[in-house]
Amino acid sequence: MLKNDQLDQWDRENFFHPSTHLAQHARGETATRVIKTASGVHIEDRDGTKLLDAFAGLYCVNVGYGRQEIAEAIADQARELAYYHSYVGHGTEASITLSKMILDRAPSNMSKVYFGLGGSDANETNVKLIWYYNNILGRPEKKKIISRWRGYHGSGLVTGSLTGLELFHKKFDLPLTQVVHTEAPYYFRRDNLDQSEAEFVAHCVTELEALIEREGADTIAAFIGEPVLGTGGIVPPPECYWAAIQGVLRKHDILLVADEVVTGFGRLGSMFGSEHYGLESDIITIAKGLTSAYAPLSGSIVSEKVWKVLEQGTDENGAIGHGWTYSAHPIGAAAGVANLKLIDDLNLIENAGKVGAYLKQSMKDALSAHANVGDVRGEGMLCAVEFVKDKDSRTFFDSADKIGPQVSAALLAQDKVIARAMPQGDILGFAPPFCLSREEADTVVAATLRAVTAVLG
Ligand code: PMP
Repeated sequence: MLKNDQLDQWDRENFFHPSTHLAQHARGETATRVIKTASGVHIEDRDGTKLLDAFAGLYCVNVGYGRQEIAEAIADQARELAYYHSYVGHGTEASITLSKMILDRAPSNMSKVYFGLGGSDANETNVKLIWYYNNILGRPEKKKIISRWRGYHGSGLVTGSLTGLELFHKKFDLPLTQVVHTEAPYYFRRDNLDQSEAEFVAHCVTELEALIEREGADTIAAFIGEPVLGTGGIVPPPECYWAAIQGVLRKHDILLVADEVVTGFGRLGSMFGSEHYGLESDIITIAKGLTSAYAPLSGSIVSEKVWKVLEQGTDENGAIGHGWTYSAHPIGAAAGVANLKLIDDLNLIENAGKVGAYLKQSMKDALSAHANVGDVRGEGMLCAVEFVKDKDSRTFFDSADKIGPQVSAALLAQDKVIARAMPQGDILGFAPPFCLSREEADTVVAATLRAVTAVLG
């Protein structure tokens, strides 16, 4: 076994970590965290310290850690057939079965699933399919994609552009010109504090209409949104938001892509966010919860409406010019099949809904009265606490004060609970595995109160 010092050195010398302060880490100013094992909602590091992971990795280990059923399915698949491609009609029992299981669970207007590896490449596929679709329909100008500020859709070139967070744009020459952004349905951060929720939704609609008018509806192909904003702050939309937005999209013949990388397969207490909010999505992006991150796998579920057009795209050259080597990788597919079975067998979606509601309510009860807690919100097994400098005037802290990161650091140091300081604003995010118990939810809430008190008094 390697000594810790050796691992630390190799890490700094060789490992280019994503979403990490590169220079600080290379200088040894940030810790190398080595996670060794995990079970249920707990992970354990190399020193044997047990941590309660109230963010399920990156909101992806939905069934919880250490599920032997999924590990066995992966091992069996690797032994029998670790890989074969899915080009020109090839498949495996696992990939074909999983496509059927996904479509059985998806909204009824969905037709086929294209498999990728992660959420970013699935959204990349979506944009390409949308462009292909409009080219087939003879609308070569109708190509732009609207996304929301604070939306998160990945960190590739087009997907990093769709992502509406400054950190993902600056110094990368993004967003690309084919992507335009509109207002996020973030009522707590509305400019006009006097606005009611209904007035704020009307304002979002006006902003969207104005953007479409400015760009020209014949240049706009699609609108992409997460049913509940995730990385941008864990923000459930106001009631009626989606109905109002869908009205505008339909009027202008703009496709709706529901990015359900976080919400798909139960995080909201419903199988899909699309059904939860009554979305008639044209394409649904899935990833994380599809395999609960036991293996990388994502998908683009396309509706019958889109599929019917895509089918006409096969020209004299034959195949569609889009495919990844690892599309529908058998090991990912085997993990997906076992994962979806487990979700059913253990009734985990119901638990996500019930314990999620309990977590949110307990968090509200414990924290709402604190002078610096401006908002406690959530939906299903998603919850967020947003900090403010002053409640009455809803003044935010200076980002340099790093209140969110300080609270999450205190939570970890004091009680060994992991929550995520969301990247923009002082927001502490919770997205535990669906198997969280009420007792574990109580632990998370009590620890959060202690951490908030330690940092803010
Ligand atoms: N879409 C959403 C809604 C996400 O939350 C994420 C990842 N957090 C992605 C897309 C990108 O997925 P990945 O990191 O697997 O590329």
